[in-house]
Amino acid sequence: MKVVRDIAIMQKGAEQIRREGKRIAFVPTMGYLHDGHRALLREGRKKGDLLILSIFVNPIQFGPSEDLERYPRDWDRDCAIAREEGIDLLFAPEASSMYPAHFQTTVHVEQVTQGLCGASRPGHFDGVSTVVAKLFNIVKPHVALFGEKDYQQLATLRRMVEDLNFDTEIVGVPTVRESDGLAMSSRNVYLSSDERKVATVLHRSLEEGLKQYRSGQREVPKLLHAIQKGICEEPKIQIDYLEIRDAESLEPISMIERKAVAAVAARIGKTRLIDNILIF
Ligand code: AMP
Repeated sequence: MKVVRDIAIMQKGAEQIRREGKRIAFVPTMGYLHDGHRALLREGRKKGDLLILSIFVNPIQFGPSEDLERYPRDWDRDCAIAREEGIDLLFAPEASSMYPAHFQTTVHVEQVTQGLCGASRPGHFDGVSTVVAKLFNIVKPHVALFGEKDYQQLATLRRMVEDLNFDTEIVGVPTVRESDGLAMSSRNVYLSSDERKVATVLHRSLEEGLKQYRSGQREVPKLLHAIQKGICEEPKIQIDYLEIRDAESLEPISMIERKAVAAVAARIGKTRLIDNILIF
């Protein structure tokens, strides 16, 4: 596995790979890899001839009071996992070369970023779309894989790629969960064992909403009520948002007439977790 830190070297390498007629599959991450990332990598392996993983904790997608400094990092473990997954190239740039002092461009996606995480994390999606646009220009992937776990992020990047005519196919990968249903996340490491148990209520409650939909309930307020009731049985959890939206446009809806997504963000102690379920 080749490790590249330099942007210009990565660009030249990507150019050479493309000239050889090989298809580049790309999985961007912030590291501290887990089975969710592995699922993206395995899907990527099927979609391309050459698999590139990036590890970059992107400072501009963190708000001033967020966890940039304490975001978990483990370079040696990540390299071991990358090797196990048969990555061809690991791109890990420095923040100072991604964002030199004169940096002043932002990619802003308008509607899809409104509400949900966009409301509680102002500027977050600008940070995400800007770094992904940069990474696409550096890694030049034919296909890039993102998790449905970060549903609004996936919708934002799909819009960005279409609007700005990026020649990269975006593939969404279903959320990978622990055996008790908790969505895998690098941030789960922040949870105490007690909080870890409390966190499982999120997926259980979202599933209850899906169950009610499948028994015929189509009214969004009633489905939300059922999900909220489940979550509120755990006093240690505070809901940041809980919404059901159109799965494609992410527009708010009051009745479910086509594929929808129920998305939640909640705080347990100091940790903010997100999860969602597709309703169809
Ligand atoms: P992160 O390192 O948290 O920025 O995540 C990198 C990529 O992995 C993003 O596309 C995430 O949506 C995806 N991802 C994170 N957790 C999961 C999971 N539990 N299942 C599937 N994909 C995930």
